[in-house]
Amino acid sequence: MDASFPFINRFPLFPHLSHNDGKKLDFAFCYIDSKTSQSTNSTPSPIGYGVSEMPRPDEINTAALCSQQGYWQYSMVIKIVPQKNKANFLFDSMRTKKLVEILASEKSVGKIFIEPHLKARLNLTTSKIRFHGCRAVRHDDHIHVQLI
Ligand SMILES: [Zn+2]
Repeated sequence: MDASFPFINRFPLFPHLSHNDGKKLDFAFCYIDSKTSQSTNSTPSPIGYGVSEMPRPDEINTAALCSQQGYWQYSMVIKIVPQKNKANFLFDSMRTKKLVEILASEKSVGKIFIEPHLKARLNLTTSKIRFHGCRAVRHDDHIHVQLI
């Protein structure tokens, strides 16, 4: 998805102000087509961002914690992206976990951002995953990678 070319958009934080040096890359999650149960290269969001794999009731809800602290922008993207395709896709936790592990194994990758509840759910253990902070946007709709 976005590498460093900013979207022309009236939302100044969208998708990332930090994507300005060519060292930051966003990757879509992997999905399964819910009708065919087959892997797909398509995504529920027409722009890749903004359809979240939400925290389950027993998982940490970082988005709620950030909102409670007044960071209104944290979940802004999911409020403006159409959610109508969500039922056609299942989050592919196995392939997404593999993708993160492949990215983490690259020497040139310094940091990876993914929402804390997905880090826990996918049992991701790489030390390259950092919490991006409530000043950013939620990362349960994509993976953000920063090169060293
Ligand atoms: Zn990013």
